[in-house]
Amino acid sequence: MKTKRFTLIALAAAGMLALAACSGGGPGSTSTPVAKPTFAAGTTMAKLAEAGKITIGTKFDQPLFGLVGPTGKPEGFDVEIGTLIASKLGISADNIEWKEAVSANREPFIQNGDVDIVIATYTINDKRKAVVSFAGPYYTAGQSILVKADNTSIKSEKDLVGQPVCSVTGSTPASKLTEIGAKPLLTDTYSNCLEPLRNGQAVAVSTDNVILAGLAAQNEGEFKLVGKPFTTEPYGIGLKKDDTEFRNFINDVLEKSYSDGSYKKAWEGTAGKVLDYVEPPAVDRY
Ligand code: GLU
Repeated sequence: MKTKRFTLIALAAAGMLALAACSGGGPGSTSTPVAKPTFAAGTTMAKLAEAGKITIGTKFDQPLFGLVGPTGKPEGFDVEIGTLIASKLGISADNIEWKEAVSANREPFIQNGDVDIVIATYTINDKRKAVVSFAGPYYTAGQSILVKADNTSIKSEKDLVGQPVCSVTGSTPASKLTEIGAKPLLTDTYSNCLEPLRNGQAVAVSTDNVILAGLAAQNEGEFKLVGKPFTTEPYGIGLKKDDTEFRNFINDVLEKSYSDGSYKKAWEGTAGKVLDYVEPPAVDRY
């Protein structure tokens, strides 16, 4: 973790509007919309470009990836990726409708057409692929553990066996906790796990390392991450099942962003304030 930048995030989270405004990387900072792009008739791209707007599901309470801050709009790496995709459809950041996605409503949001895409620390896996499709991955996280800063008894996932551990309904970490013999205490968002951790109802919070790093940075000195990541969580962009043209389009946008520096810029302006940059994983055109 980057200690200096860690402080920056904590200050911004504490409500220092001026700092947040000047620190760069606000919504849409990476992407100027393409002027009048053209797409094959009947495709989702043509439909969205014609409408001039897109609805994207993202997290609203996860620092670094998707957090509604002082601007009233979500900010973070997932938000930047969404803004980048919209820009290639000719849609400006102002014409993106952000909908709060929680872990459990991501598939139904896509299936019901409540959103056009979901970008929400969303792990690609076979169970989800049965009902939605994924572009990406664009990042690889791993499940980890957050405890109170003064905790000395939990050092790895082995120490969670038989213990109450907070996580979120409909998430991959919740299933993993059951698998390893912990007692999952489930709520709807990771930020709702902090109170049970503070008051001892849960001995730990477990989800992706990058989400926990964001929560730790937001509450400086109160919590710490322990152990090594013990799963692999490839983050994808969820879309309607079998909309292959749209999936290919998003994969092309991702690949381009890897080579032209816009992916790195999106990272540096958001999650990169706390986390080191790593090269993106290869897109999986399954
Ligand atoms: N990446 C995991 C998942 O998709 C955990 C994070 C989350 O719940 O958003 O379930």
